[in-house]
Order: sequence, then structure tokens, then C-alpha cells
Amino acid sequence: MSVKTDRNEQWLAELTALPTVAGHEDRVVEWIERWVTRRKDVRMTRDSAGNVVLKSTVRTRKTPVYLTAHIDHPGFVVTSVDRSRRVGVEFRGGVHTPYFDDARVDLFDGDDRVHRGTVTEFDHKTSTGSVRLDRRSGSLAAGDIGRWAFASRSLGVRNGRLHAAGCDDLAGAAAVLAAFDDVRKNAPQVRVLLTRAEEVGFIGAIAACKAGTIPERAELIVVENSRAFAAYPVGSGPVVRVGDASTAFDRELTNQVTRLVRSYADGHEGFRWQRKLMDGGSCEATAFGAYGYRATSLSLPLGNYHNMVDIDGVRGGSRPARVAPEFVSLDDFHGLIELLAHVAPRLGEAGEASLLERLDAIYESERLVLD
Ligand SMILES: [Zn+2]
Repeated sequence: MSVKTDRNEQWLAELTALPTVAGHEDRVVEWIERWVTRRKDVRMTRDSAGNVVLKSTVRTRKTPVYLTAHIDHPGFVVTSVDRSRRVGVEFRGGVHTPYFDDARVDLFDGDDRVHRGTVTEFDHKTSTGSVRLDRRSGSLAAGDIGRWAFASRSLGVRNGRLHAAGCDDLAGAAAVLAAFDDVRKNAPQVRVLLTRAEEVGFIGAIAACKAGTIPERAELIVVENSRAFAAYPVGSGPVVRVGDASTAFDRELTNQVTRLVRSYADGHEGFRWQRKLMDGGSCEATAFGAYGYRATSLSLPLGNYHNMVDIDGVRGGSRPARVAPEFVSLDDFHGLIELLAHVAPRLGEAGEASLLERLDAIYESERLVLD
């Protein structure tokens, strides 16, 4: 493996292990701050919503291209701690109710100490409930966060897959940072936007649109982890995502990305990729598009989406609902970085004929068949 591959997998492992939840992404932001400190040519700013923007210090007149990912993951926020072992919690993110039954959770205090407990009540209407701690705790406080408890043997790399507490969307953030690191010297127009609170309805992304965080003429490639299905299983390659459960993404930008990806794949034998509408959920490209930005997506197929192992179990299957680490394919992850690094600097470049020009040319050569 190359040094760069090792480096990218290191960032992937570190980021996907961090506890994070909508509104409480500070551990991820601190990791990014340390990452930026080691790079003298990167400037980090936060917008009024706390979204993170990274730019090259080199100025350019080219159209800015933003690689975006979100830095939260479905999880718990501590709302109250009483003197016994009972902790009030709120869950932020989309997970079906049966997964909460007697589930084991880890709550993290301000010093990153882990407090393990069991969910004893959960009301799906308000997304609030209670956790009973295994041991009494003096150090947990309202505002601390938590996630499902995973056995350490269930985490890590096996058979070319990374199993982690939260791939969605920290694996996306790792890919975006890796691509940004590869291209910004020669393509200073490529920037990074890392958004907060995606899992509760794209709140950080919408705030970025409203605050003018992104210039109007910018182009956005949203990097997501999207639930894998039989048509695009984990390991089948990064996906040029043409749409999601809500809408189709910017047509011209998606076409451009497709052309660039296709030409990259043509020059790299055996490179796996696909062009798909991934409708297992909605993605921030939908929000950016609705607010008038040109946005499309490159996504990774994701296993155990939102830590739910057996979605069929909820829908009447025989196995009970169970939580587990999410997983992604390392080959898909590296392929995604290659595509981002190839596509982002070349967006807007003239060269290949547009779809309309190609159709016109075919029409001119074949129109006689209509006579
Ligand atoms: Zn998600």
C-alpha cells in the first residue's frame, strides 16, 4: 500500500471513531482544526451556523468548487442526569423504534470518559427516553452525547471493509479532506464545506444557504454515505449519484461529473464506479439545489445504514432489530477519493462536447432515416 493510501485510511479510521451528533460536532471540528494547523496553505473559517469552510490561501478567479460532507451522525444527547443512575436522553437522527429496546449505549462525558448503560424507555414521538447507567456517575452532564455501545471486536478492518461507529458521513469527510489535500496546490478553486446537523434535516446546509456561506456561482459535489441495496452493494464502487429519495440533482453538473468519471475510468482499467439514483435516503444536494445552488453528489454504498443491522426484522421478519457498526468498502473509499481528485479541478473545463452538441451531431448524420 502506498503512503497516501495508509494516510487516507488513518484519517478514515480516526474520523469514523469520533462520537458526534447533530448540534454537538465539536470533537470532529477539533480534529479538523488540528489537521488544518499542520497545513500552512489552508485557511479554516466557521460560518454563523458553525459549519466549517476550508480554502487554499492562494487566490484564484476560477469558479469555486466545494466538496461537502456532513460531520454529524445519528446519536444521543444527554438532557438530564439525576442523582440515581437515570439519565434523560434525546435521540437525533433516523433510527426505527425497535432498535432502542433494551439497547446498550455509551455516553461520553466532557473528558471523553465512557459511561455505559441501557435504554429503559423511549418515546418515538418525541425521540426522548431514559438510560440506566451500569454505574453511578458524577461526571455526566446535560449536553454530553452518546451512541450505541459496540463490542470492540465488531470494529475495525475485516475483508477490505471498515466497520466503524459512524461512517455516515465521517467517511465522506475523510474522503473530502484527502481529495482537497491532493488537488488544492494545482486547483486552489477547490474548497471544502463540512456541515453540521444533517441528520435532523440538513439544518447546517440550509443555514449555509441562508447565510451566504457559499458564493452563488459555486458548484457543489456533496459526498455522502447512502444505504446500500442489491443494485449497488458495498464494494461495487463509488456512485455518481444522480438523485435521492426526494429529487434529481443538477442536470448539467451531474452530466459533467459523469463525463469526467467515465473518461477517468476509461484510462484506469478495472476501476469500479456506477451511476445510480440512490433513494435509500435524502442527501444535502437536495437542500443546496432547492436553495438555488448547482449541486450533485458522489456517494459511497453504506452497510448497516444508521447502525441498523436488520431492517427487515422491523418490518415483520423473524430476526429482532439489532444495532451494529456501519461499514464501507476500503476500495470504494479510495476510488471515491480518486474520482473527487480527478473531477473537482476539471469542472467547467471546456473540451468534451456537451450532450446537446453530441445529440445534434447524431441528428445531422442520421436525419435521413426520417425521409
Ligand atoms: Zn445519515
